[in-house]
Order: sequence, then structure tokens, then C-alpha cells
Amino acid sequence: MTLRFFNTLTRRKEEFHTIHPGEVRMYTCGPTVYDFAHIGNFRAYIFGDVLHRYLEYKGYKVTYVMNITDVDDKTIAGSQKEGISLADYTRRYKEAFFADIKSLNIKPADIYPEATAHIKDMVALVRTLLAKGCAYKNEGSTYFRISSFSSYGKLSHMDISGLKAGARVSADEYEKEQVADFALWKGWDKKDGEIFWETEVGKGRPGWHIECSTMSMKYLGKHFDIHTGGVDLIFPHHENEIAQSESATGEKFVNFWLHNEHLMVEGRKMAKSFGNYYTLRDLLNKGYNPIAIRYLLMATHYRQQLNFTFDGLKAAKNALQRLYDFVDNLNLVKGEEDNPQVQEIIRKAKKDFEEALDDDLNTPEALGIVFTLIKDVNRLMDQKKISKSNAGDVLKAMNGFDSVLGLFKREELALDEKVKMMIEKRAKARKEKDFKLADQIRKELEEKGIILEDTPEGTKWKRKM
Ligand code: AMP
Ligand code: ZN
Repeated sequence: MTLRFFNTLTRRKEEFHTIHPGEVRMYTCGPTVYDFAHIGNFRAYIFGDVLHRYLEYKGYKVTYVMNITDVDDKTIAGSQKEGISLADYTRRYKEAFFADIKSLNIKPADIYPEATAHIKDMVALVRTLLAKGCAYKNEGSTYFRISSFSSYGKLSHMDISGLKAGARVSADEYEKEQVADFALWKGWDKKDGEIFWETEVGKGRPGWHIECSTMSMKYLGKHFDIHTGGVDLIFPHHENEIAQSESATGEKFVNFWLHNEHLMVEGRKMAKSFGNYYTLRDLLNKGYNPIAIRYLLMATHYRQQLNFTFDGLKAAKNALQRLYDFVDNLNLVKGEEDNPQVQEIIRKAKKDFEEALDDDLNTPEALGIVFTLIKDVNRLMDQKKISKSNAGDVLKAMNGFDSVLGLFKREELALDEKVKMMIEKRAKARKEKDFKLADQIRKELEEKGIILEDTPEGTKWKRKM
């Protein structure tokens, strides 16, 4: 089957073809670094990550770009409130973002361009739009003239026929009802304090939308394959990116627009402004495993809303534990007689896994297929109808699946209760000088992939992976 994605532009599933043979150029709108990201934001980045990983699994060479918005209304307000420089303020959240994506086992993008390092490029794009008559100046700011772009509204599928000519909006975020000419460059205002650039289009700072048009085209070219983000970015952000980019280049900007649905809390989008959010840190401090959070966020199809609950998170943790137990048990298989059934189970699982992901990245189905394989192989393990070599093949297949799922990173994983009890039992045996029992437990643990080390501070453990 061929790879297909639901394209927001056309509102249907389309076969995926790349512009350059074998290569995918892809962009995801990155974080605005004014605070710690919440797990709703990470739903968007984990979706981007699974897409990135699956394209690589399919053999594409992927160039993945994610911007960092380090100047906008929110970052300026935050730095002023704390009385520190914008750079010092945003650095804190940038560092937190990179630490968070590492905990979530998100594969890094190739480039993370920062807005403040691309002001010259943005000004050049604004000047091109001015020269083409698609933009105009008003009281020190520069606005995009949406009446100059006849297909304005094609992404969000809105009718702009009743639009009032000349209406303007300066804020970066606004509602559909407020559709109007939007700011490309914001003239300096005293509330921005020291944050401004003296440029050919005046003293001021860029609007949010021009940041993404500039940085995506700089690193991926005028016309690239995939652009992603949450559904809340369809309008106005992505609609405006298209208008700016296509007006400037005269070419199609992006072939495939993919948008993830929201993470919800009791029927409402998880958002800073609603106060109904958890940052990744909140949850890690409560003792949750970041990979269980990753699992939870990918276990629902990206185009479906997902309601966040702690029960859901617990279920994700249990599913993950089943996955780890399975891998641990495979490592213990010692049988010598190969069973041809195992090859058949692997072959079918691979085929089904790929078919699921080819179909608009159906991650819940792909996970279901992995668990079907686990069930089938567990049955053979119970019956001792599997060889060590078979188990090695299953592990290899599991690792292949995991190159897409990214769930096997388990350094941070807390020991399960059974293992904890065994370690305690061994400590007791050592204290009672029952070294035979102590050694036997050590061996059993080793077979489970847990290596013990006795140190003056007590017994330490690490996982063999
Ligand atoms: P922001 O920093 O607000 O621009 O958001 C960063 C990314 O997270 C964007 O792609 C948003 O669409 C996405 N996002 C924000 N809130 C949620 C949510 N509750 N669920 C899923 N994605 C979200
Ligand atoms: Zn963007």
C-alpha cells in the first residue's frame, strides 16, 4: 500500500509523493519560549516526531526544521515582568524545551532556527511583499494586504467574500471573525521597551507569521513537502504563512498540511490561558514516566481529540510495562528448536504495522498490531515452542517497530515492584550471611536485565539494554 496523509488543504487523504525523489522536507511550528511547554503542546511535537521517524523508516532522507519563537508579545511581556533581558528570559525556556523533548525521546530536528537570529531574512521577505504590492505601511507597521491574495482562506476553507477592505489586526493571534490585513512588521511601541530592531522597514519587530514563512523557506526551499502543527494554527497562522510565502515566490508553498487535534481536559482544549494544563515537569515531579506520557499521546490517532485523564496515563504505563516485560522475557528464551510459526507472526506484524502507518499514520492501530504480536509470541513462549534464535528475530522486529514508536528508552524507568522486592530480599540474605541465596537472586535479576553492584553506599542497579 502507498503512504497516504490527510491533507488539510484538500480535506482528503492523498497519496504522498515527494518533490525531490527520496527526500522529504518538513517543518513543524515550534514552541514560543515564554514558559514551560504543557503536554498538549507535546502532543503536537510527538505527532511530528512519529511522522519524522516513520518517513525515515520508509527510507526517505528527511530534513526536519522546527523554529523557536523567541520574540513575540508573550516573551516580551514575560521578560519585562521579571526585569531581565529577553535573551536571558527565553534561554531558560529554550533549555527546558530541549530537556523535555529529550525525556520524551523525541528525535531532534535537523535545525532549530531562532526568530531573533533571522531578523534580516524576515525584513527581506517583508520588502519583497512591499515591492510586489502585497503589503503596505501604516503608522510605522507593515501589513499584508489580504485582498491581494485571491486564494486567501484556502487552508481554513473560509469564505472571505464579505471581507471589509482595509481592516487591520496587529495581534499575532486572533479569531476567524477578525480576519483582516495582518501585521508583517510591528512598528516600535513603548510597551516593547528595549526590544526593537532598526531596519529598512523601520524600527520595530517581526510579526509571528512572517517568522515561520522566512525560516521554513530559508532551510527547506520555497516549495517543500510537509508542514505540521496543531489545528489551532490553521487559522490565522498557517493561512497567513501561505499568503505571505506564495505572494512572495509566486510558487506553491507546501504540498501537505498535516494538523493534529487537541489534547483536551474535560471537554476543553488544554491551554495555558484556561489554566487546565500540566507541564511535563508537573507530571515528572509526580513520579510519572515520560515514556508513558509519550505512549499516551501517541495511542490516539493524531486527528482525533484525546481527553487527558490520570486513569488514561496509568493505562499507558501498564501497556508500556507489558512491552518491557515482553522484551525482558524474550531475552530469557533458551529453546533450541526453531519454530517456523514465529517467522510468519513477524512477517504479518510487519506488513500490518506498515499498512496502519501508511494509512494517515494510524498509530493506535500500529500499537494494536504490536500487542497482537506480543500475545501470539507469549503463547508460544508459554508452550516453550520458540527458540533463542526465534526470540532474537522477534527482538529485531520489535526494535524495527520501536524506531518509529520510540518507547524503548527506559533509563528513567522506575523498577517494578517485583524487582524491588527481589533486591530487598537479597540485601536481607547478605545481612544474614546467606550468600548462596544472595547470589542466586543476583543471577535471577541478571537474567531479567538488572545488573547489581554492591557499593559502600549500598546496592546499586542498572538495566542491561
Ligand atoms: P504554541 O506554543 O501555543 O504556539 O503551541 C505549540 C504547538 O502546540 C502548536 O502546534 C499548537 O497547535 C499545539 N497545541 C497547543 N495546545 C494544544 C493542545 N491542547 N493539544 C494539542 N496541541 C496543542
Ligand atoms: Zn509557525
